[in-house]
Amino acid sequence: MELDNPNLKKESANEKRARLDKKNQRAQELRRAETEQERQARLKKRNEKDRAKRKAESPLETEQRRKNRKIDETNESEVHKEVRLEHKRSKLAQESLDRRAARLNEMRIQQKHRLAVESQENRSARLQNMRILQKEHLANETGDDRAARLERLSVLKDERLAKETQEEKAARLKYQSTLQEEKIANETVHKRAARLKHQNNLQEKKMAKETSDERAVRLKRQCAYKENALANETPDERAVRLKRQCAYKENALANETPEQKSARLQNMSVYKRQFAQDALLKVINAEHLHNNETAPLIHQAILKDKVVKEKMDKFHHEMSSIESTICIVCSEKFPDTKMASLSTTCIRCYRDKANPKLYSSENNMNPGAVPNELQVCDINLNFLLYYRTNPLKSL
Ligand SMILES: [Zn+2]
Repeated sequence: MELDNPNLKKESANEKRARLDKKNQRAQELRRAETEQERQARLKKRNEKDRAKRKAESPLETEQRRKNRKIDETNESEVHKEVRLEHKRSKLAQESLDRRAARLNEMRIQQKHRLAVESQENRSARLQNMRILQKEHLANETGDDRAARLERLSVLKDERLAKETQEEKAARLKYQSTLQEEKIANETVHKRAARLKHQNNLQEKKMAKETSDERAVRLKRQCAYKENALANETPDERAVRLKRQCAYKENALANETPEQKSARLQNMSVYKRQFAQDALLKVINAEHLHNNETAPLIHQAILKDKVVKEKMDKFHHEMSSIESTICIVCSEKFPDTKMASLSTTCIRCYRDKANPKLYSSENNMNPGAVPNELQVCDINLNFLLYYRTNPLKSL
């Protein structure tokens, strides 16, 4: 068009600038004179025109327009850039809260629209770019910046969490646990060890601070969680769990120090004794209940008495120091069986010089293993006899 107009063609750069300046000035004067309503109408008309133009343009044209704008911005002089940004800043500083909200809303809508039609490649490129920028930004931030950022994030998070519904919460937790599972499935041995160590440290710090009430609540929750998990596990999961526990135990036993070992055995013997005592109490209670007696309370009181307990412990100790040895000829096994010195036979068999020896298998004196049916009788009978002779002693 310019080529067709001989007057404009002759115009020098200075003349052109003067003409445009004059035009701008006129427009500015007109704008200063306009009322707020006129201003709104003008901007609305302009925006509509722009939007219509943009709607009509093909994706290629949109791309070209964006590219052009980017080129313009990268090529512009420092001065011009500063002027443009200053203009933008002053406009932003002057805008009312309503207009700001409207502008941000408009931006959000446009952004949503852009994201909805974005291709897969563009999306991944954009995200990649954002990640790089973010990394650079994080690498350059100062300690104060970091603290401020984390503070801001935590406030935002709290706000979001306070607003979320039950469904949103469930969805969020599910999503988080999927992410976590994926991450754990892909982690290396080193990363896993580091993660577990970190978690343990956090846990220890937390536990060091907790009150006894918090502790009780935590233990109760853990217990319920475990019970639930055990109740719902499949046979395969159970097998895996038991195998893992077994391996863990073996590893722990292989690596324990002598002190840890003696502490463990001590604990076990205390636990065993307690367990045996409880079992005995149950039997006594059952028996007395059967006989309609109130005596079990007395038994319990006696068992809890400190002096009685000490004597019982001493008795236990002495009983467990007695060794049961088995003679390989007569198969007799009894506490304190006298064995011939440096021999695996008892003194009686040792002195028996007959062939075959009197109490030997060769002489058909070994009845063999006790049948299962009799084994049960044996235990019950033993128990009853034992209980009658030692009413305060646990097995
Ligand atoms: Zn013997």
